[in-house]
Amino acid sequence: MTQVTIGAASATRIEEMYAADWDAPAFFPDWRPEAVAKHLGWMVPDHFDPARNCLKLSIHSWLIRVGGRTILVDTCVGNHKTRPTRPKWHLMETRYLARLAEAGVRPEEIDMVMCTHLHADHVGWNTRLDNGSWVPTFPNARYVFSKADYDHCLALDREGKAPANHGSFRDSVLPVVEAGLAQMVAGTAAIDEHLTLEPAPGHTPGSVVVKLASQGKSALFCGDVLHHAIQVHHPDWNSFVCADAALARRSRRQVLEHCSGTGALLMPTHFGAPFTCHIEAKGGAFAPRFV
Ligand SMILES: [Zn+2]
Repeated sequence: MTQVTIGAASATRIEEMYAADWDAPAFFPDWRPEAVAKHLGWMVPDHFDPARNCLKLSIHSWLIRVGGRTILVDTCVGNHKTRPTRPKWHLMETRYLARLAEAGVRPEEIDMVMCTHLHADHVGWNTRLDNGSWVPTFPNARYVFSKADYDHCLALDREGKAPANHGSFRDSVLPVVEAGLAQMVAGTAAIDEHLTLEPAPGHTPGSVVVKLASQGKSALFCGDVLHHAIQVHHPDWNSFVCADAALARRSRRQVLEHCSGTGALLMPTHFGAPFTCHIEAKGGAFAPRFV
């Protein structure tokens, strides 16, 4: 189990899945073998499978303990969710809650859930199936959502073409709102003395990053502002699911500049092992330094 210390805080990785099953050129339209060749030394085998030409991506939550509170950042895909338009996430049954238990936490002990955005792989464990209906998995938590993302998804869902975000808005976001557990946040917002939410739009209209500070140390939870460590070297590479290309690139550069300038540890949701890194700036370019 990966755990890092940030001042008096800790962040523990709660894995849902970790597999090399994303076709690299399909995931990154700018992918070029000649640009990747010099990085194979660090990318193989934890970040890339050259035999299948597939990215190895993790889906995990970060469990933060700080100031006596227990907080989950991003909640993966979830179990038993119907996702016919994303077959690899369809009707999953993983040991996610067992892994949370192995980290010493029962669902009732989570004080806060923070979703960096509302895509299906960041909201899934917000709810669980109980007697045929979706109920909040973390009944004592306040769930912090980006108001801009919520409004965007609500409008998409009401258009009626297809359920928003592969159906996850209806089964993993709306039940939390209906249970009165959601807190909508707009703009930059201090959540408590350790945690701040900041807009980082582009991947989705309301994407946010979570900044954690404790005893002079800091970390930045970037959600899908970066999906894969190759984007540290190629910050202009957007994924196939980035909604606004120019804004996504701008937010990515801002995150890399923040981490390289302040020493904040980058805490992504999808990077391969060792799952976190520092960012070094060298002559206008960036490089990951894995810890
Ligand atoms: Zn994601």
